[in-house]
Amino acid sequence: TERSLVLVKPDGVRRGLTGQVLARIEAKGYTLAALQILTPDRARLEQHYAEHEGKPFYEPLLEFMSSGPVCAVVVEGERCIEGFRALAGTTDPTAAAPGSIRGDLGRDWGSKVQQNIVHGSDSPESAAREIGIWFPGL
Ligand code: ATP
Repeated sequence: TERSLVLVKPDGVRRGLTGQVLARIEAKGYTLAALQILTPDRARLEQHYAEHEGKPFYEPLLEFMSSGPVCAVVVEGERCIEGFRALAGTTDPTAAAPGSIRGDLGRDWGSKVQQNIVHGSDSPESAAREIGIWFPGL
């Protein structure tokens, strides 16, 4: 069965949405295989967001992601990578469909970075890489 690395980002934790996000993951039928709350340092975020280095939103993104605690979760379940991305909705919360986490709970806060509550791995390769970054040894 598949594994995905999910993050409740600092905006989600700050707004008290962690429980709602985890409840949606569990209600879908996925398992929470590992879970940790931490404020990520820059080195970890540089690894996690390596593919975005040099993009205009890269620095604001790292700043935002290190601004407070995140909840990192290893989610387990049949096709949970694609499944969680559907639960999350599209990147831009103003465009995300109602029923999705970002569509129901997100909006534009006028920030340089999209504060979109959650991250989910986008492929089995990214999931393996990201689980290694957030849960070394798992
Ligand atoms: P998804 O893949 O579901 O679209 P993601 O989280 O994987 O979302 P990425 O394209 O990997 O999205 O971007 C990483 C994060 O960077 C986004 O979740 C968002 O917070 C931020 N971001 C992405 N694109 C932009 C953008 N054009 N402007 C501002 N912030 C952005």
